[in-house]
Amino acid sequence: MLMDIEKTLLDEAAIGKRVRELAEQIAADYAGKDLLMVCVLNGAAVFYIDLLMDMQIPLEMNFIRVSSYGAGTESSGTVRILYDLEADITDKHVLIVEDIIDSGRTLKRLSKLLKERGAASVKCCCLLDKPSRRAVEMQADYVGFSVPDEFLVGYGLDYNGKYRNLRFIGTLKPEIYE
Ligand code: 5GP
Ligand code: MG
Ligand code: MG
Repeated sequence: MLMDIEKTLLDEAAIGKRVRELAEQIAADYAGKDLLMVCVLNGAAVFYIDLLMDMQIPLEMNFIRVSSYGAGTESSGTVRILYDLEADITDKHVLIVEDIIDSGRTLKRLSKLLKERGAASVKCCCLLDKPSRRAVEMQADYVGFSVPDEFLVGYGLDYNGKYRNLRFIGTLKPEIYE
């Protein structure tokens, strides 16, 4: 797995430090509110768990799975719900936790949907943001790192289902895509 990596963009220490900062900020912002944290499977799973374990306030966990990518590295522009939330989110303060905003389509569609279900508020927390790739207007409320336009793997991010369990975020050698 490690031999497929071209370079490390964010190492374990940098990610850990930033996740703790985000957790502290979010915990302060949601103190006393009925918070439901939505994990967007599978990419955000690693970040989500790290984030909420650093937030010592009452909160509810829930999962959703959407598909915007096929096997490749380009967004199709359509978002389908493959696995839906189990909770009734009416009057709850919802925080969507995503791995990365690229075109912005996934998050835009998802936050609209959850607002329509009657949430008290819907905000988004993204570990990574690729602002140069935005195709629709979408801004996360909490962002871990702004990153360049490169295809990234690790810390939850996959290529063809693999590399999610890397402790760092990096790029793959070009021959891996061939
Ligand atoms: P968007 O709808 O914003 O274009 O796409 C967001 C989704 O595309 C992310 O949740 C993620 O699953 C996937 N994605 C976007 N950029 C990358 C990347 O650099 N690496 C990986 N592994 N997935 C990405
Ligand atoms: Mg995702
Ligand atoms: Mg993926």
